[in-house]
Amino acid sequence: MNTLAITPQAIGMTEGQQDGLQALIGGLLQANKTVNLTAIRDAGQAWEKHILDSLAPLCVEGLIPKGASCIDIGTGAGFPGLPLALMRPDTKWVLLDSTKKKLAFAQSAADMLGLAGVEVCHGRAEELGRTARREGFTLACARAVARLDILAEYVLPLVAVGGRALFYKGPEAEAELEEAAHAIAKLGGKPGRVVALRLPSGDERRLIVVEKARKTPAQYPRREAVLRAQPIG
Ligand code: SAH
Repeated sequence: MNTLAITPQAIGMTEGQQDGLQALIGGLLQANKTVNLTAIRDAGQAWEKHILDSLAPLCVEGLIPKGASCIDIGTGAGFPGLPLALMRPDTKWVLLDSTKKKLAFAQSAADMLGLAGVEVCHGRAEELGRTARREGFTLACARAVARLDILAEYVLPLVAVGGRALFYKGPEAEAELEEAAHAIAKLGGKPGRVVALRLPSGDERRLIVVEKARKTPAQYPRREAVLRAQPIG
C-alpha cells in the first residue's frame, strides 16, 4: 500500500494558516491547565497528534469536496473539526459532542480564530440521527470515538446519499473494516477503502473512507444501549 506523508507541504498550509493552527495549540494547552482536554502537554507533540493528524484528509485531493457541509462526531475539544475548518473556509462544520465541558473550549477556539462556518452542538450522534439533520451532511468524520462497527451506526445515518464518511484509525484499520463490513452495507454504505498515511514521527495512520450509496433504513440508529450491546453483525 502506498503510504502518504502527512506534512504541512502535503496539506498545502500557508503561513497564515500555520499561525492560526499554532494559536489553536497555544489555546488548547493553556485551557488544559484547568480543564482536562488532552493528555498531551508538549506543543510539538500537540502539533503532530492534534493538528497534522486532524489534517490527514487534506493530503488526498478531493477527499473533502469543495463547499462540503460537514459534521465532526465526538469532536471533544474540536478535533479534527477545528483544524479542518480553519484550513478549509469553503466548508461548513457542526462540531458534535455529548460532553459539554470539552465543547466550551471548541466554541471559544472557534470564536478566537474567527471561524464563521463552525457551529458547536451538544448532543449524541444517535439522537441527532433521528432529527431533521438525518442525512443532512455531505461529509462526516470521527476520530477516536468507538470501534467501527458501533461508530458506523452513529455516523452513517447523518450522511446524505452521495456523501462520504471519514474514520480516523490506526494501523489495525483493515481488520476493523472487515469486522464492520456488514454493518456498513446495512446502513447504506459502499464497501470502505483504506488510505495509509504516516506522521513525521513515523506513527502510522489510516483513514477509512465510506461512500453513502443508499438511504439508511428507518430502524437505524438504534438507542445507545442497544447498539452497543448488539452491534449490527
Ligand atoms: N475526536 C476528539 C475526541 C475523542 S474522545 C479527538 O480525537 O481528540 C471521544 C469523544 O466522543 C468524547 O468527547 C465523547 O464525549 C464523544 N462521544 C462518544 N460517543 C458519542 C456519541 N454517541 N455522540 C456524541 N459524542 C460522543
